[in-house]
Amino acid sequence: MADKDRVPSKTSTDDSLLDFAAPAVVMKVGSLARIFYVNEKLIRGSSDFFNSAMKREWRQGCKRVVDLPDHNCEIFNLYVNWLYSGRLPVQHIEESNLMNNNDKQYHNLFKAYVLGDALLDSDFKDAVVDAIVNEMHIQHQGNVYFFPVRQIRTFLYNSTTSASKLRQLLVQRIARSSNGSELLKEDDDPAFLLDFARAAMHKDKDKETTISATARCAFHEHARGKCVRTRFG
Ligand SMILES: [Zn+2]
Repeated sequence: MADKDRVPSKTSTDDSLLDFAAPAVVMKVGSLARIFYVNEKLIRGSSDFFNSAMKREWRQGCKRVVDLPDHNCEIFNLYVNWLYSGRLPVQHIEESNLMNNNDKQYHNLFKAYVLGDALLDSDFKDAVVDAIVNEMHIQHQGNVYFFPVRQIRTFLYNSTTSASKLRQLLVQRIARSSNGSELLKEDDDPAFLLDFARAAMHKDKDKETTISATARCAFHEHARGKCVRTRFG
């Protein structure tokens, strides 16, 4: 059929069909073991961690129950929303309580990134990174940008390796902002301070903006041609 004879449609190939009559996998999340029921095909297709965890030889897989005591229910719920919708719900920031809401937003997004890291779900991480880039570029009253506070920066450095794309984004964005160095604290993570110093030294040679770097997927992990932005529309 020629393209001129087609209309845009929301169809997909039937290998993406989910069987909602199949028994769900039970996830027990957080210290209180809050229960989530998730479609097995959906979560195994997205998370390499769950794909391995649910292989038949795993005892947990046989029970169709996975315990995740170290993860946060609110953030896991965000992840399940992502699985089913391909969208990442983010909090609407009220101007009346901007500072606290911004911190909460960054806190949730950084935790979501670390969850994606643990679950080996690079699409989810890439979507979270894009949300963080947008958050870092919101210009508030007085031409002010809000960046993650020290506690959130330290959480990231304590929870990820040096290969983390979110570390690279954080350092690049702060190093390129006009008041970036003023944000630094003596008790910032030493690895963050070192990364910042290196980025600041190269600032004059590498003038690419964070937005441009984001647009070419510099902070994404996907293989060529598999960007989350086009895969999920
Ligand atoms: Zn991409």
